Amino acid sequence: MFTAFLIKYAEIGIKGKNRYLFEDALVHQIKFALKKCEGTFLISKSQGRIHVEAQGEFDYDETIEHLQKVFGISGICPVVYVEDEGFEKLCDRVVSYIADVYPDRNKSFKVHSRRARKDYPKESMEINADMGESILKAYPEMRVDVHNPDILLNVEIREKIYIYSETIAGPGGMPVGTGGKAMLLLSGGIDSPVAGYMIAKRGVKIDAVYFHAPPYTSERAKQKVVDLAKIVSAYAGPVWLHVINFTDIQLYIYEKCPHEELTIIMRRYMMRIAEHIAKETGCLGLITGESIGQVASQTMSSLIATNEVCELPVYRPLIGFDKKEIVDISQKINAFETSIQPFEDCCTIFVAKHPVTKPNVNIIRRHERNLEEKIEELVQKALDTKELIIAE
Ligand code: ATP
Ligand code: MG
Repeated sequence: MFTAFLIKYAEIGIKGKNRYLFEDALVHQIKFALKKCEGTFLISKSQGRIHVEAQGEFDYDETIEHLQKVFGISGICPVVYVEDEGFEKLCDRVVSYIADVYPDRNKSFKVHSRRARKDYPKESMEINADMGESILKAYPEMRVDVHNPDILLNVEIREKIYIYSETIAGPGGMPVGTGGKAMLLLSGGIDSPVAGYMIAKRGVKIDAVYFHAPPYTSERAKQKVVDLAKIVSAYAGPVWLHVINFTDIQLYIYEKCPHEELTIIMRRYMMRIAEHIAKETGCLGLITGESIGQVASQTMSSLIATNEVCELPVYRPLIGFDKKEIVDISQKINAFETSIQPFEDCCTIFVAKHPVTKPNVNIIRRHERNLEEKIEELVQKALDTKELIIAE
């Protein structure tokens, strides 16, 4: 019965010029999300509202599911459109709307009408009262409650007339694209896709970089990261995934540096390379899935060591989360099943038995000097052979 949706968004902080940016970004993201749905949709912006209208056949559940991935949407109201064929016909339509949507009618209600078209013969107060009466006549078990109704029946009189009463929760947040762009260090694990999702939620467009180490890591491990980038893209829009071949850098560090510092030094090179690509592509920050104390390379001391090699801010949205909390979000965004596929990412293979948990930055820097001879050349080569995959 529903053929359209009224999109609600939180309007805090989007006055003036910001409002257009916000709405345009939201429309853009809605279009992107619905591209993957069956059917065609007309998306329009008018009088501070966004309407999504199905043109012909469409899948209701699928459409809702995709709209629920568009940040910036606070609520999705399924709408019935009716032509203006006089007030009596309209009341009949509202009565049958109630029958369809509320099989249990032992409920209170309130009619809330809005007359955007001033040539409509009744004023809104009159519409509310007369329509309320028709409803009570049809359903004596219902009752009016103007303060706290179970059902708030919205009737909006525009070119067409819209009837809606239900609001399905949207994901909240800000439309992606309103907050600039950041570079996500995306591994095949549970944490980094969740970190990307969380920053995207604040309106930030996501690019990603993945370091792989063939033949130590397999094609399937890489495919898993591509799959995760696609999952993030369902929320964030197309993700440009830069794949860096990290093997030679890793082997060189392995050869020249103490093994217990390997992970930290490797991570420092990941950050340096990620920042280089970030700056080249207009990203305003880096994102990682780190959380304090989760592993040796994520103690506060280790974080000093990985943090100091970059100038851009590093966003770590999971920093205070327990694993369980991260897993919950991972499941919610449908990334978990993919994340737990058992393909090695590059860190696990070179990992030392007893990695340092309190690295001293001065010592790390000194050991990095062992790499002076070849590291620049290797980093340059890694950048030159970068592969770009657009995940969507
Ligand atoms: P994740 O679940 O995201 O893999 P993790 O708990 O395995 O995280 P680490 O392996 O210590 O943690 O990695 C910390 C962070 O460093 C990751 O969240 C990710 O942002 C980044 N990272 C680690 N390995 C890679 C990689 N191979 N490519 C890109 N980023 C990586
Ligand atoms: Mg990992």
